[in-house]
Amino acid sequence: MFIVLKKNCSERERQAVERRIEEMGCNAKPVVGVRNVGIAVTGNEEALKPELFEIMPGVLTAFRITKPYRRVSKDYKPENTVINVGDVKIGGRKPVIIAGPCSVEGKGQMMEIAGKVKEHGAHILRGGAYKPRSSPYSFQGLGESGLKLLAEAGEKYDMPVVTEALDSDSLGKVLRYSDIVQIGARNMKNYSLLKEAAKIDKPVLLKRGMGSTGEEILLSAEYLLDGGNQRVILCERGIKKTGTSKLVLDVNTISWLKDRTHLPVIADPSHAGGKRNLVSPLARAAIAAGVSGLMIEVHRKPMEALSDGYQALEPFEFKNLMTEINKIIETLGFYSDSREF
Ligand code: PEP
Ligand code: MN
Repeated sequence: MFIVLKKNCSERERQAVERRIEEMGCNAKPVVGVRNVGIAVTGNEEALKPELFEIMPGVLTAFRITKPYRRVSKDYKPENTVINVGDVKIGGRKPVIIAGPCSVEGKGQMMEIAGKVKEHGAHILRGGAYKPRSSPYSFQGLGESGLKLLAEAGEKYDMPVVTEALDSDSLGKVLRYSDIVQIGARNMKNYSLLKEAAKIDKPVLLKRGMGSTGEEILLSAEYLLDGGNQRVILCERGIKKTGTSKLVLDVNTISWLKDRTHLPVIADPSHAGGKRNLVSPLARAAIAAGVSGLMIEVHRKPMEALSDGYQALEPFEFKNLMTEINKIIETLGFYSDSREF
């Protein structure tokens, strides 16, 4: 931690700060700058909170130098984590495309969409069976029967599947049918669910909460890694824009995360855009920013979808998007050995 003292900080105030640091079992080392005097704090800084020092007289500001997360960081593991799910590699050079409906609605719907997305180049099939809806009156998902339909469609079209678990009960069921377990934006800070998911033998797709910072998703992922699950995929799915109910895809944080973590970072332009016409531009931007994959909602008849129809691409739009994405990938040379993604 580093503490910057105010210009008018008295000798007594400075000594009080140093005493406090020592009382907490750390060492204080004064650093004299051109404008201010600072104190570098060394030793076991875990218990020291910058806020505790910022309220002391004579202190201008205090901040941590060491990060509160460890296992997710590139310092801990410099090489990128590649997660194998069947034949699909997430975090390798080739971005992975996850596609399918927001919700599993029935056998015909699931089979048809699975066939279409596979035909157009998707690698992993998605579909929610347990849906976290804002309204209790909205479609809540088909539950276990939906999981069976998703698994059946994945098997028929030879694609691994991903679906969301909302709590411990659905986690148990999802584990039986899904290759990847999704923990959604609303549950990103559900630490008891994270602790349970840390013990499973399946990869976790962790989505960033709409109001959470990059550091907070890394700390949530730290729960998974620290608890024993090393196979974690991070997903940027849009954050709240101030003053509106709309979201923005946070490309800054995609890059910020890629600089700090070895875990694969993917983007979900469907939920970030929240509108069908925004999905493709945001998907292209995310691919250009170097994500390891995309999650795209696709529906045969978006107007009739039981959830998120307004942001679903029709199969032909998904096909066009795949063509565009492949052009970007080719142009930027993400497949070549000279660039690491
Ligand atoms: C979803 O993927 O359908 C979903 C509900 O995601 P999020 O948690 O990002 O809202
Ligand atoms: Mn959705």
